[in-house]
Amino acid sequence: MAGLCAAAHARALGATPAVYEKGTRAGGSMLLSSCVIWRFRDWDDFRRECPTGDERLQRTVWERLDDGISWLESLGATVVAHETGNPRTVGKRFDPRGLTETLVQAAGDVRLGATTEDPVILATGGFQGDRELVDEHIRPDAELRLRANPWSAGDGLRLGVARGGELSAGLDEFYGRNMPDDDFTEEQFVPLAQLYGRVARVFNERGEEFFEGEVSWSENDLVQATARQPGARAWYLLDDEALKDPDVAQRVARASTRTEPAELPFTPPNGTRVAVRVKPGITHTIGGLRIDERGRVAEGLYAAGADVGGISTGGYASGLAAALVFGRIAAESALDRL
Ligand SMILES: Cc1cc2nc3c(=O)[nH]c(=O)nc-3n(C[C@H](O)[C@H](O)[C@H](O)COP(=O)(O)OP(=O)(O)OC[C@H]3O[C@@H](n4cnc5c(N)ncnc54)[C@H](O)[C@@H]3O)c2cc1C
Repeated sequence: MAGLCAAAHARALGATPAVYEKGTRAGGSMLLSSCVIWRFRDWDDFRRECPTGDERLQRTVWERLDDGISWLESLGATVVAHETGNPRTVGKRFDPRGLTETLVQAAGDVRLGATTEDPVILATGGFQGDRELVDEHIRPDAELRLRANPWSAGDGLRLGVARGGELSAGLDEFYGRNMPDDDFTEEQFVPLAQLYGRVARVFNERGEEFFEGEVSWSENDLVQATARQPGARAWYLLDDEALKDPDVAQRVARASTRTEPAELPFTPPNGTRVAVRVKPGITHTIGGLRIDERGRVAEGLYAAGADVGGISTGGYASGLAAALVFGRIAAESALDRL
């Protein structure tokens, strides 16, 4: 997302950029996403939800997102919904395939299966695809399955640090979803997400109820806490009340790790009807390279998207929004137009 936005904007500003795309197709994780590009409606809410994020970067995303969305629409990207469906947030849902095609066309020169050692803008999408970096910084109790494109493996982070860049806060944080603890395909990233932890009772393998307090609306706090449990696993236990919600019942029914209460490795509380064994699928890292408001990592080097850390630290905010806003800013900075 970020690299295509940067190139499309740079071309409109009169430059002739090239996008080096390591993967076999364009669009990265954006193409696999639900493609809701959003911000918190209220600034104070953003600060409350992501309290340890860099306030200057957050302010930039918050103030420039609406303009960025209008720009995508002006390029001809197809909007699927003009609302996010969440009263706390504003933004639009795009068609990911249509958005990718629009941006590829506007970017012009997109070289698939190619990379470069001398980029001006880093936009490689984070380090979730690299086991070593994930172990070093996020430290899950066991390996997490990838819920993202397979090519984002920390290349931007490594190159940025080698060129004198610094690391942001929140390197141990990630965004993801608890998924059935089983293999899944790209097509199942969204439908198999077990997004009902708030109505479940959550236990680890040892039968301990480990999550204290209320689960956040994004459930990202619960997902990250799950990664630190034995085997990076948890059990979601559901009673009749929880299963009354048809969306919850449907997600449970789709989970291959659905289990009868009697088969659990611990004694469940009375009233448990069914349990699901879950494990985080990691979508993108939240920590990364430190940038300033101009997207600068080091002299002559800029970054955008999930290669940049410290924006949604302490919580969760739209990765697509940050990629869009800082992708355009990185292009302006690299061309000295900011
Ligand atoms: C199932 C799913 C649902 C999601 N839903 C939403 C949503 O509704 N709203 C939202 O805001 N976010 C959502 N996201 C997250 C969103 O997709 C990411 O935050 C966003 O794509 C990050 O943008 P990016 O440009 O940093 O990374 P990407 O879009 O992943 O792009 C990074 C690109 O860099 C390429 N690359 C990696 N290394 C190299 C290299 N060395 N050289 C060249 N190219 C390289 C990769 O192949 C990839 O194409 C979702 C993600 C998933 C997987």
